[in-house]
Amino acid sequence: MKFCEIRESATGGRGVFATQAIPRDTVVHSEQVPYASIIFKPFRNETCAYCFKWNSNRNMPVCAAIPGIRFCSTQCIEAWYLQYNYCGYLTSAIDSIVRYYNAHKDMRGEAAAPYLWDALETDQAPSLDLDETACNMAIYAASVLTRECVPTDDAQHQVEQACKLQSSLTELLQAIPEILQTYQGAFQILVRTIKKQPELTDKVTKEKVCYYFGIEAVNAFGIWEQPLFSDSECLGSAVYPEASFFNHSCDPNCGKSFIGSALVITTARDIPSDSELFIAYGSHKLPEDRDERVDYLQKRWFFTCQCPKCATT
Ligand SMILES: [Zn+2]
Ligand SMILES: [Zn+2]
Repeated sequence: MKFCEIRESATGGRGVFATQAIPRDTVVHSEQVPYASIIFKPFRNETCAYCFKWNSNRNMPVCAAIPGIRFCSTQCIEAWYLQYNYCGYLTSAIDSIVRYYNAHKDMRGEAAAPYLWDALETDQAPSLDLDETACNMAIYAASVLTRECVPTDDAQHQVEQACKLQSSLTELLQAIPEILQTYQGAFQILVRTIKKQPELTDKVTKEKVCYYFGIEAVNAFGIWEQPLFSDSECLGSAVYPEASFFNHSCDPNCGKSFIGSALVITTARDIPSDSELFIAYGSHKLPEDRDERVDYLQKRWFFTCQCPKCATT
């Protein structure tokens, strides 16, 4: 971060504050690659897993050693292997997850239940009904857990930052109880696949995996078809740990943009020293109507927006 720092904010939790006056159009933060990302299945063959370039109805030309991950160029596949696939851990993980999912997706499994977490962790639970999002979430968790193994400074810095993020799986399950099936399904896939990889065995625990699920739920940035229009497709999601410390305003003083897979945050107006920097979550989907918007933010991110546009007093 440039010209700003992470501090406790008045609303509780952390926020990003200017350490000096910052002129408009200044890049205050850029994160070159996400901590972890997931391209949703319908777009997987048509989207570069590294730079997120998307060609509708045309497969990306460069394949990884395993199905379901494609790249737009040899530079992108090389960069992805270097950045994420330390010792081949991630490709092995994705391969075993996808195989497990394909072998079990059409079987009729059991329903999830809150008391099943412990039994799932020790693999004593019955096979659960699996949906495609469970497979997506298992891949996401695998990319987070394997990133912990990458010994570069960049990766370790992201791991440290991610451990400070808010995780909201409990709130999410209270708001949408039926989504438990997806998360427990994802956890069962992980226990029955990547837990067998020696470097990951100790990492596939209920606490750790649920923590990372909860981070994704409230901190992930959508990967959108660019340029962004109201009808753009959402291709996937990505977690950028430091950028997640920017709080939301419906009238933000900063804007976010993607350059390939890099997330860049730029000031949208002059910002006085000590002011908090805000971005808009879900910016192009935010309802115009105040009540609808407050409701949308509450349901999607579990906070009551108190920004100048929403505050009632
Ligand atoms: Zn690419
Ligand atoms: Zn607001």
